[in-house]
Amino acid sequence: MAGTLYLVPTPIGNLGDISQRCRDTLAQADFIAAEDTRVSLKLLNHLELKKPLVSYYEHNQAESGPKILQRLLAGETCALVSDAGSPAISDPGEGLVALCAQAGVPVCAIPGPCAVITALSVSGLPTGRFTFEGFLSTNRKSRTDHLDSLRAEQRTMVFYEAPHKLLHTLEDMAAVFGETRRISLCRELTKLHEEILRTTLGEAIALYRETPPRGEFVLVVEGAEAPPAQQATLEEAVALVAALMEQGRSRKDAAKEAAAQTGFSKNALYSASMEG
Ligand code: SAM
Repeated sequence: MAGTLYLVPTPIGNLGDISQRCRDTLAQADFIAAEDTRVSLKLLNHLELKKPLVSYYEHNQAESGPKILQRLLAGETCALVSDAGSPAISDPGEGLVALCAQAGVPVCAIPGPCAVITALSVSGLPTGRFTFEGFLSTNRKSRTDHLDSLRAEQRTMVFYEAPHKLLHTLEDMAAVFGETRRISLCRELTKLHEEILRTTLGEAIALYRETPPRGEFVLVVEGAEAPPAQQATLEEAVALVAALMEQGRSRKDAAKEAAAQTGFSKNALYSASMEG
């Protein structure tokens, strides 16, 4: 019978955040797959655990993943850890979980520290619906395309960012979302210098131009405002186009005016008025 892959979250700063279940799982695993074995060794020393470690990280996962899978298929139990937080969330793990799922190997995720959820819950912004966007690409075009795709996003958006790229990212966000858009900058969560700055994109830019940012950040950005509710029906909006045309306006102008008054798109009203 195949063993189980356990996804074990580790502290994102405060070592007290490791749970009893995570300790027990690490203690009972046959081996631990770690993003950086030196980082995980420090945690294991703190927990007074000795375990065989194998490395599983972004640049070796193509070779390391199948080897770990073979051991699982042979009946061993593996605990997967990343440097900090939840494995598979902007960290190695996604590929290994997919391999196990495909091969019918059981995967068990243990809940625990995760920077996205910690930041979102303390942000003060709406949490009912949110979207996690991970890191923006360093490639100019993908970065712009990514932000453009979020222009009308109404859900709260959560991003990870490195301190040396933060100012540039805030400037790019302000260009798309506007300087008055609210943002919560969650810095050094669970650590000694934890700080939650609830402000606007424009004010955050002014601040970090003066004082370069330091530490780890999660950015929680308010979603876009909902477009005004459509009050009129399509028939009423088309009737308005006809009425405006009777007053001497061109179809294009009438559709534009009716669109502004009713919330329908001008192209939709233009086409519908031709059919009616
Ligand atoms: N898998 C991890 C998780 O979900 O918690 C995240 C790993 S990702 C490679 C690292 C990013 O998470 C950092 O660049 C930062 O954006 C965020 N992060 C991790 N720990 C943090 C902390 N203590 N305070 C603020 N942000 C943190």
